[in-house]
Amino acid sequence: MSENIHETIIIGSGPAGYTAAIYAARAEMNPIILTGMEPGGQLTTTTDVENFPGYPEGIAGPELMGDLQKQAERFGTEVVYDMVTEVEFAEDIGGVHIVKTSNGLVYKTYSVIISTGASAKYLGLDDEKKYAGSGVSACATCDGFFYRGKDVAVVGGGDTAAEEATYLAKICNKVYLLVRRDEFRASQIMENRVRETKNIEILFNHELEGLSGDQVVEQAYIVNNKTREKSTLKIDGVFIAIGHKPNTDIFKGKLKMDESGYLITKTKTTETEIPGVFACGDVQDNVYRQAVTAAGTGCMAALDAERYVAQNEFDRG
Ligand SMILES: Cc1cc2nc3c(=O)[nH]c(=O)nc-3n(C[C@H](O)[C@H](O)[C@H](O)COP(=O)(O)OP(=O)(O)OC[C@H]3O[C@@H](n4cnc5c(N)ncnc54)[C@H](O)[C@@H]3O)c2cc1C
Repeated sequence: MSENIHETIIIGSGPAGYTAAIYAARAEMNPIILTGMEPGGQLTTTTDVENFPGYPEGIAGPELMGDLQKQAERFGTEVVYDMVTEVEFAEDIGGVHIVKTSNGLVYKTYSVIISTGASAKYLGLDDEKKYAGSGVSACATCDGFFYRGKDVAVVGGGDTAAEEATYLAKICNKVYLLVRRDEFRASQIMENRVRETKNIEILFNHELEGLSGDQVVEQAYIVNNKTREKSTLKIDGVFIAIGHKPNTDIFKGKLKMDESGYLITKTKTTETEIPGVFACGDVQDNVYRQAVTAAGTGCMAALDAERYVAQNEFDRG
């Protein structure tokens, strides 16, 4: 184990992680960012990002993440292509945390910034992969604008699906909402909102079986799971809204999480209950899930970590 104790280690290289790295590097914390399996994070899987401030013409996701990486490296961030497999958190203020990676590296650090993101859940159909970015999306706020005036379907029966459907109904011509059960799982208020929206057609007991189209989605094949009757919807896009899985398996039993596995931070900060351990981005946000909000909390995490380490240095003399 290296005897060197770092000021901060950042786990995850999405917009939250790289923004934290930019701030931490400029504060001379010499951050190390461990990229994980998806260097650059979720945005590397998308083409046009049109809502990240500063890009009036929009920008390709991988290009945006490449720029963030360069900006972080410019101030001295060390980018390490490795994945964290285990953490040991010290519970006392000023304690040394340990971060272990799949390449066998072991880091000691006074602070840890967790930005491991969350992954959208999919149904597992081959066509979801085939048409990813060409008619299949898991984010209405991100991609809804590309379907303005068009017909789309939303899959899911919970709050996320209800929210995505009502959001899309404002932009799109028609929204089919495919609900697997014969009732919603969504809260009553969200259900009412869906039912009161004229251009949403709710199809209870319906499941998506497949998609077709030349290059982009043109049809959805659906089945009534009670009658087994099959039908086809003419649509331009489908939004899978069956939830997200935060990437927090390695923190189970070590940090507080909500029932879905999102890390819990103290209000208005990125602090977890462990001193020196901070969380930012989608891993602690089941509401907004946007690149700019992830970047915003990444900034907060670096500032929180910087203050924490500075205070401890002061205390240690
Ligand atoms: C297809 C698609 C299109 C989108 N379009 C938009 C858009 O147009 N506008 C917008 O604002 N948002 C968009 N989003 C949402 C946006 O991508 C996310 O809100 C944002 O990326 C969250 O950033 P993050 O840094 O929290 O996490 P992520 O981007 O999810 O990054 C997580 C990082 O953590 C790493 N990681 C995970 N586990 C470990 C581990 N054990 N060790 C080390 N590293 C680990 C991963 O490798 C990854 O680098 C889109 C999402 C998707 C999927």
